[in-house]
Amino acid sequence: MPAEKEMIFQGIPASPGIIIGIARSLNIDSEDVLPQPIADPENEIRTFKLAIDQVKKTLEETGKKINQRLGSEFVRIFEAQVMIASDKVWNDNIVIRIRKEKLCAEYIYHDEAQKVIRRLGESKDAYLRERMQDIESVTHRLIGRLKGEKRATLKGLRGSTVVLARYLYPGDLLPLTIRRNLGFATGIGGPTSHLALIAKSLSIPAVIGVGEVAERVKSGARVIIDGYKGVFVVNPSPETVRRFKKLKESENQLKRQLTQLKSKSAVTLDKKNIEIMANIELPNEIPKVLAAGASGIGLYRTEYMFLTRLEFPTFEEQYKTYSSVLRRMGGKPVVIRTFDMGGDKFPGAAGKGFELNPFLGWRAIRVCLDRPEVFKPQLKALLRASRWGNLSIMIPMISNYEELAAVRKIFEECKQELREQKKIFKENVPLGVMIEVPSAALIADSLAGDSDFFSVGTNDLIQYTLAVDRGNEFLSKLYQSYHPAHLMLIKKSVEAAHSRNIKLSVCGEMAADPIGAILLIGLGVDTLSVSFQSVGILKKIVRSVSYRESRRMAEHALQMRTNSEIERYMKNEIENRFPDLNSVMRFVMRG
Ligand code: PEP
Ligand code: MG
Repeated sequence: MPAEKEMIFQGIPASPGIIIGIARSLNIDSEDVLPQPIADPENEIRTFKLAIDQVKKTLEETGKKINQRLGSEFVRIFEAQVMIASDKVWNDNIVIRIRKEKLCAEYIYHDEAQKVIRRLGESKDAYLRERMQDIESVTHRLIGRLKGEKRATLKGLRGSTVVLARYLYPGDLLPLTIRRNLGFATGIGGPTSHLALIAKSLSIPAVIGVGEVAERVKSGARVIIDGYKGVFVVNPSPETVRRFKKLKESENQLKRQLTQLKSKSAVTLDKKNIEIMANIELPNEIPKVLAAGASGIGLYRTEYMFLTRLEFPTFEEQYKTYSSVLRRMGGKPVVIRTFDMGGDKFPGAAGKGFELNPFLGWRAIRVCLDRPEVFKPQLKALLRASRWGNLSIMIPMISNYEELAAVRKIFEECKQELREQKKIFKENVPLGVMIEVPSAALIADSLAGDSDFFSVGTNDLIQYTLAVDRGNEFLSKLYQSYHPAHLMLIKKSVEAAHSRNIKLSVCGEMAADPIGAILLIGLGVDTLSVSFQSVGILKKIVRSVSYRESRRMAEHALQMRTNSEIERYMKNEIENRFPDLNSVMRFVMRG
């Protein structure tokens, strides 16, 4: 890597923020694992067993620390890795191979791990693909132990630092939580990996997937990461440094402004109130949701409870979790969505067969209606927990009226069973429908008749309206939130909801994008629900625009033919009409 030349790399934005600092490489020097012959296999086996025990111990200790600092949800990652390190059949096989082949333990372990990783890599099941990361993580740790290599640590660092590594284990992020001005860039990892999830949850700016460069840049080099845009700069020129310093100043200024908005409500310039709620995957996000000034939780994705494990959570476990979420939100509204499994999310134990087209397959409410033994305990746990707060229940992926009728029937059965058991619950918990399939938007009138509220899931509504897989990076240009067809479906849903006097919220990513948010406000949406990181910015957006103008803009946009025409028009209007927002537009995370 040339010492001085400026180089700019595009990675994946994993967690927002900008760090201009000095690189600290955490890479293990040599990743080569060669088939070294060994003279004394029994001795090698002893060394291997000792190393495995040490890896297990470290993982357990890190899990405990994570539990103290982040809550129990993340501990599952470590539990999964301890299970891998303890796998008797696997470890016995390694011992047999060492004895037979008389080769070093690190080579044989690595070789076995690669075979499994290759197999998992071919799997269509996201749960199994996630396990790949865990196996890789355990293998790296073990090889490091066997080779006597120590990762560089973060001790003794001063000033702004960007940690670089091919991959960081979630445990590596722990020391980062107590330092400010720290971020990281990794060679591999996807936007929904554990690593990205934890970085966001800890508010550590991060760029992932920058490739080999994360391994080649040496400690001490000057670097910049831009977690909003996924940009990684090595050896920035004085001009680039100046530019990013200015950007950082604007970022700090914006953060100060947003702090002042925390206790303020989100009202437009012409006094229309828009509720800003937060989406959560894990209950440990609640303190941040409250600190960000959200007026409630607009979407709790309960399926995350089982995504890192093999079985469904029990009734008791769910009751405890939902009650605690409701209590911690202290009477603020909490919308809990029933399991949206399928598509790219399935617990190991769900017994899903192979599906050629999982997003058009056995997903969400379709699974729940087919599996009352999973659905009913969830509904009952929700009903039982309802007395601890302000709960609404939301049903994902409704595509026809029969499904809603079937849900209503089961919901009533659950209530009746609880009554017969003399269990306490609130009788009038609102039950709402997600509008995320075009057919639901088109029959919104009839759904609204039996629904207490609507929430539009634009992430899915876009993919199903435009036939564009939301997770396929090759199609990202075709995944268009402002596509007129998509906007028309939202408009139709809003009209149906309002004509029946029910509220409509939007909980997809479109709500966190300034142009998207303004279009949604203009279309008449009552509530926007976004991740806690976007709550402040969204309040600023709402307070900087007028409903009247936004409605005019949305109506005008609906007359246009294409996503890009609408985007150009909206950018132009925002720049001219809402100058307060020009500083905000840069600080939105974009994939
Ligand atoms: C959506 O589809 O927009 C949504 C909020 O749900 P999810 O992203 O969990 O599918
Ligand atoms: Mg969805």
